[in-house]
Amino acid sequence: MTHDNRLHRDWYAILDASPSDCVQELKQKYQKLALLYHPDKQSPDTAAGEVEQCVQRFIEVDQAWKILGNEETKRAYDLQRRARELKQNWPVDAHVCLDDMTWDDGEQVYTYGCRCGGEYVVGKEEAEEEEDLVICCDTCSLSIEIKRPA
Ligand SMILES: [Zn+2]
Repeated sequence: MTHDNRLHRDWYAILDASPSDCVQELKQKYQKLALLYHPDKQSPDTAAGEVEQCVQRFIEVDQAWKILGNEETKRAYDLQRRARELKQNWPVDAHVCLDDMTWDDGEQVYTYGCRCGGEYVVGKEEAEEEEDLVICCDTCSLSIEIKRPA
């Protein structure tokens, strides 16, 4: 992956929020997480590695709120996000019927070979419950859309 992750962060996911949340909800979620990951709130027994992770999360949460808490930057980000979603939805390599996939009884998953030699893997429940499910190859950037038996 050569994408710049900083530009492609999902700020909503970082705040444990969804794009449909209002600013008030976003703020509450931000405050909850900021408190949870605040370096000063960690217990003295916490391992150094964990503290470091908390600091990283704290910085991310703070960045997310800086973007989503401001009407202008939020609107710009939402537009960017939509455009990216549309683009991501585009390269579906094939439409595959669940019946065409191979059922792996041991792993309880459906698998399907990608033309790159990689594999598409999807859990039973996900495959059977979600509509218009798009899954990604475990090796390349292709994806397939799974059609459920009618
Ligand atoms: Zn592939």
